Amino acid sequence: MNIMLLGAPGSGKGTQAEKLVARLGYIQFSTGDLMRKQITDQTSLGLECAKYMNEGKLVPDKIVNAIVKDYLKSNSNKLIFDGFPRTLEQALELEKMLAEVDSKMDRVIYIDVAKEIILKRISGRIICPICKVSYHIETRKPLVEGICDNDGAALVRRPDDSPEKVAVRLKTYEADTKPLIDFYSNKPGFIHIEEAAELDGEIVYNMIEEALI
Ligand code: AMP
Repeated sequence: MNIMLLGAPGSGKGTQAEKLVARLGYIQFSTGDLMRKQITDQTSLGLECAKYMNEGKLVPDKIVNAIVKDYLKSNSNKLIFDGFPRTLEQALELEKMLAEVDSKMDRVIYIDVAKEIILKRISGRIICPICKVSYHIETRKPLVEGICDNDGAALVRRPDDSPEKVAVRLKTYEADTKPLIDFYSNKPGFIHIEEAAELDGEIVYNMIEEALI
């Protein structure tokens, strides 16, 4: 079973993915995390991705599709697609890539969160550069300020979480990624979690888990 989490930046895709990994043994496949790792490692791919990511813009389809194709060679089941696809072009390519490895997308879960809430969430978000878990300075504080509960690393703010970059990312989401909701809503296995921010994170998780049966 493969799952896709769809939703705006800050809608909670990463947090729900973490739970699915810890509790059901899924593998989180986040194109953003993968590219941030390339940036940290200062590879040529990382440097190319950084040009777009640091501006809050999408990395070109050709680059991201190639990363995904490569990844699917070693893993093609029990994946949680978090942050991919983000364009219709990527979604169409993904169908082909999954078919090539005899796999498919079984569930597409749309976590629907209002824009005002997204802005509040991202403006207070801090992440662990090691384990990638995200915290919030008011609503999901680490046990010790500025330090990751899991591994003791110093928490950081993502460079693309600044207000100007977030504005660009949300515009990009509306223009390029939101059309994917129409694309997937007509397919079997589509689940829409409405007003997800009004629900406790555990309730959202339970809704996802039920949808996997
Ligand atoms: P995320 O960690 O999913 O919020 O992604 C952070 C940034 O990585 C995005 O703002 C894009 O610049 C880039 N990125 C991640 N996934 C994709 C994708 N599927 N297509 C294009 N750019 C992406």
